[in-house]
Amino acid sequence: MTTILDGVATGATIRSEAAEAAATIRNQAGRAPGLAVVLVGDDPASQVYVGSKRRACEAAGLASFGHLLPADTPAAELFALIDRLNADPAVDGILVQLPLPAHLPTRELLERIDPAKDVDGFHPVNVGRLWIDEPGFVPCTPAGIIEMLRRYDIPLRGRRAVVIGRSTIVGKPMAGLLVRESATVTVAHSKTRDLPGLCREAEILIAAVGRAGLVDASYVAPGAVVIDVGMNRVSDRSLAERLTGGDEKRMAAFERNGSVLVGDVDYPAAAPLAAAITPVPGGVGPLTVAMLLANTVTAARRRLGLQAAAGG
Ligand code: NAD
Repeated sequence: MTTILDGVATGATIRSEAAEAAATIRNQAGRAPGLAVVLVGDDPASQVYVGSKRRACEAAGLASFGHLLPADTPAAELFALIDRLNADPAVDGILVQLPLPAHLPTRELLERIDPAKDVDGFHPVNVGRLWIDEPGFVPCTPAGIIEMLRRYDIPLRGRRAVVIGRSTIVGKPMAGLLVRESATVTVAHSKTRDLPGLCREAEILIAAVGRAGLVDASYVAPGAVVIDVGMNRVSDRSLAERLTGGDEKRMAAFERNGSVLVGDVDYPAAAPLAAAITPVPGGVGPLTVAMLLANTVTAARRRLGLQAAAGG
């Protein structure tokens, strides 16, 4: 029997824990944890992400401060905004929605954020802290995956993990977290030879690639735990049919929208082999926003010198 790892339910639990913690902080400190979200330009996908982050904050009783700026905002103005947010006592977390317009120096702007408010975990200080086992902030997607594995009692200690993808946002921090959990980790990427053979050695297989259905049955050892980070829009009908297993509702959505959202894993082929697997949608996606709230609560506690409640 394959366990379907339910990111919607796990994400909802993490969000309600964040809401409880936010209420406690409000009682103790007289203010809610606050997240500032900076969006530059009008990229539709970014607008959707920022909207869902803001709604999640509000639903959990966190304060959210939106800074929506035109696409041609000069870099100097953004540096000044980040300086103001760094100095603002009501702001515990700062998130700059990526990608930024091409004229802006993304790295320099991310490095301007106070590491104590860097709830996305992209600042080099936090990247380093992950690798020296110091408390910092870890990017929300890999942090959410570890949290879900923990909540499903999936052991990591001593197990062989393969992470496909070496991005700064997902693959590398995922590898760091798995090492921290005492897994034995291999990071695979676009230059890896015999990727299917390598992946078949994995007891924990994490795909963070951005290639629809790449991970088919030839990648999956029987009994492996398969985590699908990929979010890919597929507009080819026969590929959509194959990767959704012809699911009626999802194919109806395909007819309406001309595309369907799928992961990096060929779910119908891989799921029967796996001991546990995340679906797309409804797997890793909902964990990312949930962990953003959790990280903002943590930032507020640290900045206010408050302890986490027992078990929190
Ligand atoms: P990225 O493009 O920065 O990195 C992709 C990685 O995959 C690279 O390291 C590359 O070497 C590797 N790769 C590319 N083609 C490969 C191949 N054929 N074989 C093996 N490795 C290959 O992407 P990213 O930001 O890490 O995102 C990866 C996927 O995860 C995307 O689909 C993205 O949309 C999704 N994502 C989802 C969430 C979420 O919340 N669910 C969050 C972040 C990213």
